[in-house]
Amino acid sequence: MTEEVFRDDAYAARCEAVVVGVDGANVYLDRTVLYPTGGGQPGDRGRLVLADGDVLEVADTLKGPHGVAHRLADGQSAPAPGTRLTAEVDWPRRYQLMRMHSAMHLLCKAVDCPVTGGQVGEAKSRLDFDAGETRLDKEAIAARLAEWVALDRPIRHLWIDADELQSRPELVRTMSVRPPTTGGRLRLVEIEGLDLQACGGTHVRSTGEIGALTVGKIENKGRQNRRVNIALAE
Ligand SMILES: [Zn+2]
Repeated sequence: MTEEVFRDDAYAARCEAVVVGVDGANVYLDRTVLYPTGGGQPGDRGRLVLADGDVLEVADTLKGPHGVAHRLADGQSAPAPGTRLTAEVDWPRRYQLMRMHSAMHLLCKAVDCPVTGGQVGEAKSRLDFDAGETRLDKEAIAARLAEWVALDRPIRHLWIDADELQSRPELVRTMSVRPPTTGGRLRLVEIEGLDLQACGGTHVRSTGEIGALTVGKIENKGRQNRRVNIALAE
């Protein structure tokens, strides 16, 4: 399986790697900085740079049967297994996704209702809540998000045993349906003093990096389901 450099270091924009398998347009590497679609966060785009300077465009990154699958854009031939190359993520896009994904944790905290679904995007993101009888107030949500961004709270990763999670089900509640485990361990994301939950996505280092957010209209999606849309303001 692929060594997932982005799990411990979301800020790694490139890494040296070796091609370990090819399946059609999907290239498998021994290690990668590209995040595969999962937990509501879209897969990365990027490039594979060969030793002779040739560049292969990665159109999408997915979880495949042999690890992280780098799907090449149409019309490119995959490098042979054993090829050494540099994997590079489309950093401006990924950084926006990291800010957005981190903002979703704050949104989840700002709305004290069970989450029923969500999608992170580079331009805008959304979470769906089972609001019951609670009326969601757009202005109040926006004010809470702004306050927590201004606090610039650190965002850290912690690891626990998968077994321990069984006794703390409250840690699984939002972004990912089933958080990834690595060697029987499971990653938690802590926003100091605000939020702690299991999550395998990519996050910024502090809430200040998220920057200003706008809260869009709150949509009715079913009798009790409410969709909250947010976007990066800059
Ligand atoms: Zn997360």
